[in-house]
Amino acid sequence: MSFDKLGLSAEILRAVTEGGYSKATPVQQQAIPVILEGRDVMAGAQTGTGKTAAFTLPLLQRLNSQPQDKQHRVVRALILTPTRELAVQVHESVCTYGKHLPLKSTVIYGGVNIASQIKKLRQGVDIVVATPGRLLDHLGQKTLDLSNVEILTLDEADRILDMGFIRDVRRIIGFLPRQRQNLLFFATFSNEIKELANGLLNSPALIEVARRNTAAESVTQIIHPVDRARKRELISFLIGSKNWKQVLIFTRTKHGANRLSQQLERDGLSASAIHGNKSQGARTKALANFKSGTVRVLVATDVASRGLNIDQLPHVVNFELPALPEDYIHRIGRTGRAGNEGEAISLVCVDELKLLSDIEKLLKKTIPQVIVPDYEPDPSIQPAPIRNKTNRGKSSSQPKREHKYRGR
Ligand code: AMP
Repeated sequence: MSFDKLGLSAEILRAVTEGGYSKATPVQQQAIPVILEGRDVMAGAQTGTGKTAAFTLPLLQRLNSQPQDKQHRVVRALILTPTRELAVQVHESVCTYGKHLPLKSTVIYGGVNIASQIKKLRQGVDIVVATPGRLLDHLGQKTLDLSNVEILTLDEADRILDMGFIRDVRRIIGFLPRQRQNLLFFATFSNEIKELANGLLNSPALIEVARRNTAAESVTQIIHPVDRARKRELISFLIGSKNWKQVLIFTRTKHGANRLSQQLERDGLSASAIHGNKSQGARTKALANFKSGTVRVLVATDVASRGLNIDQLPHVVNFELPALPEDYIHRIGRTGRAGNEGEAISLVCVDELKLLSDIEKLLKKTIPQVIVPDYEPDPSIQPAPIRNKTNRGKSSSQPKREHKYRGR
């Protein structure tokens, strides 16, 4: 469906056309008209479906269609995201789609100096995109007033909950007026999301574009069974022999991400690591170098996985399977976006067979296993418990013997 049937104004349509989009994606087709009507929305849409534009475009239009005092701007829309990277990317979308409108916006996140954020807020903005922690700092210091917010958007609300921000979100909501429009976007439905929605939304329109807990159809998934000690060697071999130019690799821990990126460098592959312990400057630089092709391999932890928006990323590798099966879907959602084909490869050792079976249960399908010649797993190696400091779930228990590779 073309964008001009959705009730968007000429200035917004112009920005969309200049952005190179001609057809609205399914989530955009469904969400834009109901948000324009002023209704609350609860939308299940994964990254890569065009969900950012699905809430940004009508939000901009609603703000612009009401009278505003340009001398004394007040914050009228708040968009909360789980990570700094996502906040930056959503803010970029707000700027891109709003470039022909007289609205001002800013982005607020931790890990950087607060003074420049305060300065920007003092100058007056209509839209704030923020991560919860730093936003609360501003509210505590009274450098931000949210009492005029008309639209609240929670982007990747499931991730916000996973990251333990629920209390922060509830406190932030306490600073908002009761009368407002609420938009809740999430990738994976859960009881926690249901509970949040019940407390937050008022007769919402329900929008679901991908089936619950399914991975993008455009992603080819493969498992390479391999011994734990040979994973690093195998990943270097795959990148080199297949001549991959841009690979995103996931590890379970920050330490693992640093170590792998250093080892890959030693193998002659340009690599950087991105995770929660890195300064904002270092994360932004690593991401920019990866996007521009200066760095071939980006090694990331799950915290970094959700926010990354890299067009046409062809390869995602799970160096280790994630502790939570839902994170597998989030990770591989970094590839195969907006109609491009992608490949998600997981290196699975004998310790991870239980995690693999949990993932396959969630996907409701088995993932093909391909043994790379010369990297056959040694059947005499016994499973060892997975040590994982950042483990939010169960998986640290001793793996059970009944899980076996399914052969070649
Ligand atoms: P999102 O789901 O918001 O993370 O968007 C995923 C990617 O799809 C981004 O790179 C967007 O620039 C792109 N995108 C958003 N809307 C469209 C559209 N209507 N047609 C093609 N690409 C789009």
